[in-house]
Amino acid sequence: MRCPFCGEQDTKVIDSRLVTEGDQVRRRRQCQACEERFTTFESAELVMPKLIKSNGTRVPFDEQKLTSGIQRALEKRPVSVEDVEASIHRIQATLRATGEREVKSLMVGELVMEELRKLDQVAYVRFASVYRQFQDIEEFSQEIARIRKDAQKNPHSQAPSEVDA
Ligand SMILES: [Zn+2]
Repeated sequence: MRCPFCGEQDTKVIDSRLVTEGDQVRRRRQCQACEERFTTFESAELVMPKLIKSNGTRVPFDEQKLTSGIQRALEKRPVSVEDVEASIHRIQATLRATGEREVKSLMVGELVMEELRKLDQVAYVRFASVYRQFQDIEEFSQEIARIRKDAQKNPHSQAPSEVDA
């Protein structure tokens, strides 16, 4: 984004937020040369960054691919369609808010894991195990141990009879 004051190409995003129900992104930018600040309104579709794959190729963001990956992990799990949609929305909003033209595709994977972790632990482990391809066995087994421990701590957290016990 070119600086309107001095014409410098290199401007930095200092704040970024979705406006008008997520259709637009309002950005505060600062010029790296003259340090003037200005605001832009950009179409959210246009600011979705491209993904840099591990082999260095750039691919456009694919919402369908993201959705099917998440749905595969959530197969037969008790999670509502609304919650899944909200997660997908949050992932896309986070990507837009980076203000970057390109991000590593790894970042999408990490965002998916973050969302699945909140939605459903089984789906999270399913996705994480495939995603990380067991590259880090140690971390993976630590994660399993953490989940087991959580489950033991709160075995009846959903039972109403426990509330006043
Ligand atoms: Zn400038």
